[in-house]
Amino acid sequence: MPTAGGVQTAITSGSEIGCNVIQLFTSSPRQWRSSALKEESISAFKEARLVAQTKFCIAHDSYLINLAAPPGDILDKSINSFREELVRAEQLGLDYLVTHMGAHGGDGEDVGLVRLCESLTRIHSDLPGYKVRVALETTAGQGTYLGSTFEHFPRIFDLVGEHERLAVCLDTCHIFAAGYDIRTQEAYADTMGKFGETVGFDRLKVLHTNDSMKPLGSRADRHAHVGEGEIGLEAFRLLVNDDRLYGNPFILETPDAETMHAVNLRRLKDLVSSAE
Ligand SMILES: [Zn+2]
Repeated sequence: MPTAGGVQTAITSGSEIGCNVIQLFTSSPRQWRSSALKEESISAFKEARLVAQTKFCIAHDSYLINLAAPPGDILDKSINSFREELVRAEQLGLDYLVTHMGAHGGDGEDVGLVRLCESLTRIHSDLPGYKVRVALETTAGQGTYLGSTFEHFPRIFDLVGEHERLAVCLDTCHIFAAGYDIRTQEAYADTMGKFGETVGFDRLKVLHTNDSMKPLGSRADRHAHVGEGEIGLEAFRLLVNDDRLYGNPFILETPDAETMHAVNLRRLKDLVSSAE
């Protein structure tokens, strides 16, 4: 949700179109520079949440952050920036901070995973006792990005200090682009079965319900409106009726927020089977 006019706008505009969960950026996602939140912004946000009764409030971190980068300027900036992201998320009382898992930059997945885990461990110990949890997002596998196979997740949970502060965010567009099919009942059962065995539904706390402009296994991250992309409506029908996902926040990151979020939300709600 947009935050022009203050962070609380994400809640009020979400509430206007019937969202009971929202996701926002707490600073510009394409800039390193960020400013600390003002006291009045924090209280306006909390007040708006109370009024709207928003169940889950989630932030997505800046696109520039790469916690798996080779040692150097980018890694240092990424760690500092992510620390600030986490501070703002905690100040706003957010439930999760979603982050992409970073890219190894040619050094290989094993090295990248270790670097990501070292960064997260350090950030956890720098900011003790935080309530907000970091939700690691599945990625499409573009470039040298980590997180395009489910197997990466248990390895991270094994290596990060205070791993109980971590959660997982599953993005339907990203897993599909990474090669996990969910278009039919059979394919969905197979993919989600693998997810359950490898990552575990107890760790899954956020879903990004985006269709994909690009085909299965394309390793390209291009979100499409629900039912209008390569994934199609059936996968979303299976997803919103999957008992294993019940109670989790479902987030739309589809294009044309102002005109289309309400439409995509209605589409998802219409897919929910009513109890007979
Ligand atoms: Zn996403």
